Amino acid sequence: ATPTAVMVATGIGAQNGILIKGGDALERAHRIQCVVFDKTGTLTMGKPSVTHQTVKIFDKTPLAEFLTIVASAEAGSEHPMAKALVDYAHNHLVFPEPLRSGEMPRTRDLSWMREASEFENVPGEGVRCKIVGVSVLVGNRKLMRSAGVTVSDEVERYLQETENRAGTGILAAFNGSIVGVVGISDPLNPEAALVVEGLQRMGIRCVMVTGDNWGTARSVSRRVGIDEVFAEVLPAGKAEIIRNLQSDETKVAMVGDGVNDSPALAAADVGIAIGAGTDIAIEAADYVLIRNNLEDVITSIDLSRKAFARIR
Ligand code: ADP
Ligand code: MG
Repeated sequence: ATPTAVMVATGIGAQNGILIKGGDALERAHRIQCVVFDKTGTLTMGKPSVTHQTVKIFDKTPLAEFLTIVASAEAGSEHPMAKALVDYAHNHLVFPEPLRSGEMPRTRDLSWMREASEFENVPGEGVRCKIVGVSVLVGNRKLMRSAGVTVSDEVERYLQETENRAGTGILAAFNGSIVGVVGISDPLNPEAALVVEGLQRMGIRCVMVTGDNWGTARSVSRRVGIDEVFAEVLPAGKAEIIRNLQSDETKVAMVGDGVNDSPALAAADVGIAIGAGTDIAIEAADYVLIRNNLEDVITSIDLSRKAFARIR
């Protein structure tokens, strides 16, 4: 490509909210044969919420007590799922009845919250702490397994039902026994399926990677048309997956938004940070998609293909 072609492509990119970090990055994008998508915040909206009728309690614990303890435990976590849980509990505990018209929401009333001690955040698994003398665990199967908490067949069946609907079931155990499951769902990005189809039509292989469990991962990947999936991946594992995909000379792009994604964005031949991604992701990336529109992944590769017309 001529310097003019590079300048034109970079300019068209900028007009469309696609920041390309230099001519090298633009050049590498036309060779991409495989695009790896992070699930959360990329193929999904990244805004998980607790949906109605998704709190399931397996013993006689009252709902308000269950939510108070679980949300008080999650209050110490920055994880989007923890925030969804705290918001849900807050709404339920402060406004058990729907607001009457004109009534002011008492949004700052956090008096329901209980203090947690010995709080510990377990990355990729959940949280543990003590609340009013109760040992509390809130997280996934891995968290329960490492604490020696048994997940009964009944609980496991319920988890799988949630996962088959593309949700994530968060387990809560008090004093070593499972008490309930909270279903969290993160809506699909409405563009995801079209973008995957478009890339596949361009001859590009699409892969999904996530820290979330296999059930939810498969359910999401099926909905967006991706066959190749890696789930239950720890943060460092994402970069390793990229390197494995590259080992047979395949040129790989990674699309992601989170803190967890920056090593993978850096390892990829082309790292693409999407949306209001974290600063660290934006720094590690070669492309930044400012409009938070997944279709810009296709536009990015198109721009590069046009600038570097495939003459070998
Ligand atoms: P990703 O960002 O790829 O979805 P994470 O590594 O952040 O993956 O989380 C993986 C899984 O660990 C989540 O799907 C959830 O099941 C569990 N998890 C992590 N943190 C928490 C938390 N604070 N509360 C409940 N579950 C959690
Ligand atoms: Mg993520």
